[in-house]
Amino acid sequence: MENLYKKVAETMINLKQCVALTGAGISEESGIPTFRDKGGLWGKYDPMVYASIDVFMKDPSKYWSLRDLFIKNYDDYKPNKAHYALKDLEEMEILRCVITQNIDGLHIKAGSKNVIEIHGSIREIFCLKCNKKYETPNIPDGIPPYCSCGGVLKPNTVLFGEELPPEAIMKAKHESMTCKIMLLIGTSAIVYPAASLPHLAQQNGAQIVEINIERAFPNADYYIEGKAGVVLPKIVDTIRTITIDR
Ligand code: NAD
Ligand code: ZN
Repeated sequence: MENLYKKVAETMINLKQCVALTGAGISEESGIPTFRDKGGLWGKYDPMVYASIDVFMKDPSKYWSLRDLFIKNYDDYKPNKAHYALKDLEEMEILRCVITQNIDGLHIKAGSKNVIEIHGSIREIFCLKCNKKYETPNIPDGIPPYCSCGGVLKPNTVLFGEELPPEAIMKAKHESMTCKIMLLIGTSAIVYPAASLPHLAQQNGAQIVEINIERAFPNADYYIEGKAGVVLPKIVDTIRTITIDR
């Protein structure tokens, strides 16, 4: 295991141009359940129903009935050691950007500067009628909440069945095609088009380092098994030790 950390750290120091693709697993240690965690929240509330655009357009109160779980608690969720480790890697000029599928805003809260939120973020809510923006925690009450103009409010996140923001996905593809290493962290890598990004990276010569509690991307060049909040700080420490020794 120690050798594996050393190898990964050396590769990152030598190649730099590293990009991280993160999924729900990186926020698990911040207390936000992943979709895989079927025994928990998502066993009770099927995201394909509660977070689908078709259902939202027909009956937005379904989505908003869960508002206390997300929007109200938005400010209570805190980044964990994994988010901070990625911020450190950016400051060390090893990590170029974070592409995240998460909508929890925790990378930005941790201080990462270059973050591409390909599924949007619940930080921002907008009116479906006049497009007025509201920022958490200043969201009107109600299930669903309404804008001052009478329009229904929707979070600025990509629901199931919705298109991804074209600019974000274009940037994410560009970063994936031009990076030299991709850290694949806490994602089951099955939700498209995000799932195509590690393949794009690999096809263009990048090495893939997967960090997960169970393997999800068998073609990765390196796989470090463990919780993101344990593995990532250890990678940062190993990089620091190697660079200090040089
Ligand atoms: P997923 O729920 O399908 O998979 C989670 C992955 O994380 C699994 O591979 C699991 O083994 C791994 N994992 C769990 N705990 C971990 C830990 N502590 N450290 C490292 N790995 C861990 O998540 P996904 O691949 O991101 O896809 C689900 C979709 O749902 C995405 O669009 C995602 O953004 C969204 N989602 C987001 C949030 C959030 O914003 N925090 C939460 C749930 C789902
Ligand atoms: Zn409005």
